[in-house]
Amino acid sequence: NGLTVLVCGGGNAAQVATSMFAARYETYAISLYADEAANWKQAMKGRWHDRVEGMELTLDTGKKVVSMPADMTNDPSISGKADVIILAVPSFAHGQYFEAFYPYIKPGTIVACMPARSGGDILFASKMKEKADSLAFVGFETLPWACRFTEWGKRATILGTKGQILAAVTPESKASHAIATLQGLLGVFPEVLKSPNNLGISLRNPGQVIHPGVMYGRWCSEKWDGQKLSEKPLFYQGVDDFTEGVLLGLSDEVQAVCRKVESLVSGFDLKDACTLHQWYLDSYKGQMADDSTLKLSMNTNSAYTGLTHPMKEVDGGFMPDLKYRYLAEDVPTGLCFTRGLAELLEVPTPTMDKVITFAQEHLGKSFLTDGKMAGANIGETRAPQAVGINSKEEFFKMAKIA
Ligand code: NAD
Repeated sequence: NGLTVLVCGGGNAAQVATSMFAARYETYAISLYADEAANWKQAMKGRWHDRVEGMELTLDTGKKVVSMPADMTNDPSISGKADVIILAVPSFAHGQYFEAFYPYIKPGTIVACMPARSGGDILFASKMKEKADSLAFVGFETLPWACRFTEWGKRATILGTKGQILAAVTPESKASHAIATLQGLLGVFPEVLKSPNNLGISLRNPGQVIHPGVMYGRWCSEKWDGQKLSEKPLFYQGVDDFTEGVLLGLSDEVQAVCRKVESLVSGFDLKDACTLHQWYLDSYKGQMADDSTLKLSMNTNSAYTGLTHPMKEVDGGFMPDLKYRYLAEDVPTGLCFTRGLAELLEVPTPTMDKVITFAQEHLGKSFLTDGKMAGANIGETRAPQAVGINSKEEFFKMAKIA
């Protein structure tokens, strides 16, 4: 059919999404990052002549699809042509794209973030202002595929496709149309399951708990003397009782936020914002040798075998990379959202406060200061306070909840 698709970004996910959708739809790619768009366009050209050869995508079935994207650009006015806009770019960049599209985007456009992380709907509403009601914001819980480019700008591979994936639509009135359209783009798998609301997607975000929690559990001053290590420690298999305690603390505080919202908004459905242990049972059933506790679910998960902490080699040893995306992305666009909402709801968050304080020290940023989400770098986060929301009533209005 006549859909026009715009994919944002230029990394693994954006290259895969662009080449997949371009096989069946008029598909553009936009990157606002440095001269990535021009470089990508150049990369698609043949080696010996200037003929554009397009992109080749290898599916997880082994089949190859060759496609020709309509164009690559850094000009945001292209967003005015799009029926569907896909953000397949790390979450710290979402706001930049929303801001750039605001003058051009047309009513009825579906804007999907894969993945949204937390508070994507709030950021979108604040950047799209009066236009937000005419658009559909779709928050995906994760990326539909595990994927990599193999030759930058030219060849990419899907290593695995999820069977099912949750997505929520704001406003609710546009949900069926948006989900059906996105399912058409993705094909049969993953099956897109409609989650009741974007707050559920935000609070479900497992990355906000797992990544900062395991980093804190291993590298906080109680557990690490600051010296280099001779080996890279295991990330998931290395979760001990102390780290499990941190993860349970974070997960319980997320649950306390959920219960508080439900107590204030009768009938509001946060079923998808489950505990971290439940998330493991739902996502990895059968792949964990013992799933009786959170710690064992992580230690015995075959999907995680051998995965280590992000480390940098230093003088023949290893030091933790405490600026890695597990802190640099998952704290600002994950945990900071939930901590900021907890503050509006007056839910205590002692574990989140410890973990955010640890992370911001290593990142050289200030999010939390004197117990408030009011640090100098708050604008880089998804905390509701970053877009000037300072009461639960304002939050519910922005989230179209009450
Ligand atoms: P990636 O690291 O390949 O993305 C890099 C891209 O991000 C760059 O090409 C550029 O377009 C953009 N970018 C980088 N630095 C920037 C900056 N300073 N300013 C603006 N833009 C910048 O990431 P990816 O693998 O494509 O993943 C995209 C998202 O999907 C991430 O949130 C990732 O965690 C998630 N994810 C990826 C996979 C996967 O298999 N690739 C799986 C699950 C989830």
